[in-house]
Amino acid sequence: MGRLRPPLRPLRALAGRELGEFIVADSKQDSPEVAVVGSANVDLVVPVPRHPVGGETILGGDVVRHPGGKGANQAVAAARAGGVRTTFIGALGRDASGDLIAGSLRAAGVDVSLVDRVDTPTGTALIAVSPTGENTIIVAPGANRHVGIGRAQARRIAAAAVLLAQLEVPLEVIRQAVEARAADTLVVLNAAPSQDLPKWLWGALDVLVVNEHEAADLAGTGGAPAVLAEALLRRVPAVVVTLGGEGSLVATREGGQVMVGAFSVDVVDTTGAGDTYCGVLAAELAKGRDLVEAAQVAAAAGALATTAAGAQEAVPTAADVTGLVSAR
Ligand code: ADP
Repeated sequence: MGRLRPPLRPLRALAGRELGEFIVADSKQDSPEVAVVGSANVDLVVPVPRHPVGGETILGGDVVRHPGGKGANQAVAAARAGGVRTTFIGALGRDASGDLIAGSLRAAGVDVSLVDRVDTPTGTALIAVSPTGENTIIVAPGANRHVGIGRAQARRIAAAAVLLAQLEVPLEVIRQAVEARAADTLVVLNAAPSQDLPKWLWGALDVLVVNEHEAADLAGTGGAPAVLAEALLRRVPAVVVTLGGEGSLVATREGGQVMVGAFSVDVVDTTGAGDTYCGVLAAELAKGRDLVEAAQVAAAAGALATTAAGAQEAVPTAADVTGLVSAR
């Protein structure tokens, strides 16, 4: 584990700088970079009076298009956190949806120069929302199946303080990205959507970020978050279990567990809270914060993301996040 400096020490009481010393190497702290490898989708959201059954056609309301996809959402969040250079490595179609996502990424300050434009349509999520708020979702991955880690992408990953990935692109892409990392690149995986992880990926991870359901799936057991985290620590040095409005649990192998409380906000739409949390966590780790401090900032950003509709549109600015953290 040469990438973590110094070795993880026990995490003790709740606040304070002596909590987890989980700091990336100095060599990358001058202009820390975050490389986000993952998906980009356009979410087409249609309100429906009820969900149709097989073979049925129903009329819905007006369609709304949102830029989304876990990779792109997390890249936007990392860039908005400020103080890091964020590169998104993904694939978009040569279509209007691709332009929408590229525009959203650029507006947040994400470097999109290594995004491939391919002949397959941009990834699309078709989302029908009933009056009770229940969603049915069809995802057409499209261009996300064609993310490539070429030489330029590999170089950028090697230069990154943090490589952040999720599971909406083929595992082979993640394998190539992980192989491109440098010795001091921290690998952070948000294991969503849930799927079994191959051995090589477990072995490459520095920090695993999962919600309670994903934690249970990967641990192969039920139980309280602390139990799940303990089980996952057998396979990775550090785990963050996000718990929605209950906050998040930070656990490291050589230390203990620290509960990072949620910030109290007026919730409008929880879409994108998890992605915002992951992107900001990666940015704060890249800047040299320890894991608990990074989780506290990520929690503030995740909370603020629930106060507005959408995913990328709801990612807060660094100033708003700092305001909430210092008001605590
Ligand atoms: P996911 O969407 O991946 O399931 P969570 O719902 O656990 O992720 O949210 C990620 C983080 O965002 C939480 O750990 C918490 O810090 C913050 N968050 C989410 N929902 C709320 C909420 N209702 N109030 C305050 N913070 C929230």
